[in-house]
Amino acid sequence: MLEINNLVVAYGGIQALKGINLSVEQGKIVALIGANGAGKSTTLKSIVGLVKPVSGSIVYEGKDLLKVSTKDMVRHGLTLVPEGRKIFPDLTVLENLNIGAFCRSDTKDINRDRDWVYELFPILKERNWQLAGTLSGGEQQMLAVGRALMSRPRLLMMDEPSLGLAPLIVKNIFSIIREIHEQQGVTILLIEQNANVSLKIADKGYVIETGMIKLEGTGQELLVNEEVKKAYLGEA
Ligand code: ATP
Repeated sequence: MLEINNLVVAYGGIQALKGINLSVEQGKIVALIGANGAGKSTTLKSIVGLVKPVSGSIVYEGKDLLKVSTKDMVRHGLTLVPEGRKIFPDLTVLENLNIGAFCRSDTKDINRDRDWVYELFPILKERNWQLAGTLSGGEQQMLAVGRALMSRPRLLMMDEPSLGLAPLIVKNIFSIIREIHEQQGVTILLIEQNANVSLKIADKGYVIETGMIKLEGTGQELLVNEEVKKAYLGEA
């Protein structure tokens, strides 16, 4: 579904990505894990066209993604849940959700999808009329995921959904990510520093270090890999 080949990205002459290869098969959950500054966000930014690679290719459903503008990506089924959530604080929960469906006109399906989001996150239904800026951090993350779902993504990309959230809320959000994947077969690319929770739900994982893919394997393989355990799972 998504193929990244030999991607090189530089900021002012310094290479942030040094030729990475990554593929996301349709219907899978793929996790890209790595420490601060490893190149995770740069990878996502390249996919959605926010940074221009020096070389390499990104192909999505057979299309050269480097030629698709960022604003057209949602129409192609590609949706990003940005880091730090970026919901609209002065709009209500409902308005935020409706914005997620901005490029759709199938009212009946939109309503059905909204009901589905409310089923996944009952708290959003309770808070329907509340201004999004007054939600807790975890609720805002749920809203960001819900809003992304309203665009009916085929590939849902998430930038550090666990960032700044309490462990119990992280657990809850990750179990819902798995549910989204199981119920509607949405393909998911997950960017995370939290290796433990993301590898547990991932079919495939990549470990990125200083702009290079250091390891790849199934989520389970990486969870028991000695290097991963030492560097990312806090085990000696
Ligand atoms: P984080 O978890 O902090 O977001 P990351 O793995 O997503 O980390 P990137 O943000 O992709 O890492 O950064 C990769 C490298 O590129 C780092 O060395 C970073 O300092 C550098 N970098 C990122 N953005 C810029 C920028 N706009 N200008 C210059 N250098 C940058």
